[in-house]
Amino acid sequence: MKKKRFFYIILAFITFSCVLYCVQWKEDIEKRINIRTQLEKQDAGIYAHILLKEMEYFPVCPDNTKKVDYYFENGYGTGRTYGGERKHEGIDIMSSVNKPRCLKIRSVSDGIVEKKGWLELGGYRLGIRSKSGIYYYYAHLDQYKDGIEQGQHIDAGEVIGYMGNTGYGPEVTKGQFDVHLHFGIYVDKGDSEVSLNPYYLLEYLSDKQIN
Ligand SMILES: [Zn+2]
Repeated sequence: MKKKRFFYIILAFITFSCVLYCVQWKEDIEKRINIRTQLEKQDAGIYAHILLKEMEYFPVCPDNTKKVDYYFENGYGTGRTYGGERKHEGIDIMSSVNKPRCLKIRSVSDGIVEKKGWLELGGYRLGIRSKSGIYYYYAHLDQYKDGIEQGQHIDAGEVIGYMGNTGYGPEVTKGQFDVHLHFGIYVDKGDSEVSLNPYYLLEYLSDKQIN
C-alpha cells in the first residue's frame, strides 16, 4: 500500500514538472515571436534569430548585495535635444541609486572591442562587434574595467566597465543626467549602419536573469 502511494506521489511530481516545463517553453516561444514581430516593424526581422543566439547576458550585472536595482522602459526613438534635434537610438537602463560605479556593466555577447574612448554625446563608451557583425554600444560609463583595450576579444558576460553619468560635454564631463547605461544595437544595412530597438531583447534577457 505504501509502495502504491509513493508511486502516485512520484507520478504527480513528474506530471507537475512536465506541465511547468511546457508552460515555460510556451512563454519563451511567445517572447521570441514578439521580439521578431517588433524587429520586423523596423524591417529587421532577419536579425531576430542572430540576436537571440548571440545575446547571452543582460548588460547590467545584478547587484549581489541586492541594495541596487536597475529599471528601464521603452524610450527608443524619443526626442533628444543635446547636440541638435535627434532620436534616441537605444535604451537607458537606470540605476535605483544615483551613484556612479554602483553597478557593473558586462558584454551581452562575445566580440571584439572596436571603439573605446570619449564621445561628446556618449561619454566614456565601448563599442563591441560580434562575429556576426552586429555592433553593441555601451555609453556613459564611469570607468572601464582595467585592461580593456581596443582590438581585444571579450567573452559574453565579461565585465567591461562601471555604470556612470559621463557625457554631454568635453572629456570628463559628469553629472549632466542621472546615472545610467545607454545600450544600443547597430546593424549594417547596405550603405549605412542603423540602430535597432533593443527594448524587447533587454526585457527578454532581464526576465531570464531573474528566473
Ligand atoms: Zn540613452
